[in-house]
Amino acid sequence: MRAALVHQGVLYLSECAPRSPHRSAVTTLVRGIWREYPDQARSLLRNRIFTDGPLSPACEGMIKVAAKRFEVLSPIEWEARFAGFHGTVQTLTALVPDTEGHTFAPKDLPIRELLAQLRHQAEGYPAVTAALVDPEGRVLIGSWNRTARDRSAHAEVNLVEAWFGQHNVPPPQGSTLHVSLRPCAMCAAQILALAGDPGTLRVVFYEEDPGPASKNSCLVPGTDLWHKAGSPAWQAWLADS
Ligand SMILES: [Zn+2]
Repeated sequence: MRAALVHQGVLYLSECAPRSPHRSAVTTLVRGIWREYPDQARSLLRNRIFTDGPLSPACEGMIKVAAKRFEVLSPIEWEARFAGFHGTVQTLTALVPDTEGHTFAPKDLPIRELLAQLRHQAEGYPAVTAALVDPEGRVLIGSWNRTARDRSAHAEVNLVEAWFGQHNVPPPQGSTLHVSLRPCAMCAAQILALAGDPGTLRVVFYEEDPGPASKNSCLVPGTDLWHKAGSPAWQAWLADS
C-alpha cells in the first residue's frame, strides 16, 4: 500500500513499512511530514492524501487528527495519477522511534501517580500520559504527548512507536496500557496495532475526553470503529477516579 500527496509540484510519497504493523503508508506519510518538514507540515497536510489501499481505523484516525482530506484510489487510478509524475519526488520513511525521550527508570509508584509525574514532560495541551504495565505490574515504558511540535504526536502514538523501536514484538500477553485520558480514534487504533491480538491487551483510561477527538474512538462501544476493530475481544474500561 502507498500513500501520497502533491504540494507545489512536489510528490510526497510513502509505502507501508515492513515488519511494523502500526506503521501504515498513511501513518508514515503524515508522521514523516511532521518530522521532515515541521514548518510546512500544516500547509502540506491541507492537501488531499491519496492511498491505493483500504484505510485502516488507524489511518482514518490519523487523517482526522493531523491532516484533512483523503481519497482511496484503485491501483489503476493510482498508476494513471502518479506513474507519469515528472516533478520532484520526496519519499518519506518510517520514523526511527525516539526511544530516548520515552525511556525512564520506572519507579515503584502507584500507576496514577506515575501518570501524574509524567505530565511534566508533556509538550502541548492537554497533557496526556500513558504507561504500559506487564502482567506482573512492572512498568515497561511510559510516554506523553508532544503535540506542540507535531499534531499527531499523542502520548499513545509515541508509546507504540517507542515500544516497537525497542522490541519489535507485541507487549507480553496480559499487559495493561494505562492512559490518563480516553484514547482518540487514532490512538485507539494504534494501540490495537500494538497488541496484535486485541484480546491480549487491556486498556485503562482515567478520564473521559469530552471533546470530539475521542468520540469515534474504537474504545467507544457501538461506533463504526468499534465494530471494525473487532470489539468483542477488546477490553477497555474507565477506571474509578
Ligand atoms: Zn490520541
